Amino acid sequence: MSVTQIIRCPNCGNFAERYNNLESHIMRTACNSCDYLLVQCAKTCRVIESYAPGINYAVPQVTRPLVAHKQR
Ligand SMILES: [Zn+2]
Repeated sequence: MSVTQIIRCPNCGNFAERYNNLESHIMRTACNSCDYLLVQCAKTCRVIESYAPGINYAVPQVTRPLVAHKQR
């Protein structure tokens, strides 16, 4: 038996799903928005597998133009 919860993704803040398997005590958090994944043992809090992709939505894509040396 497993319980599914909707939580906020700790990585990107969007809605993510948390599956809690009550028999094996395996807790799995997965986010579709950013591919965040956390597989954890709910009993010991031991992290079995985790993946958090880097999000740089706050960083604007700035391409610095090459400074051309002007010939006078
Ligand atoms: Zn996410």
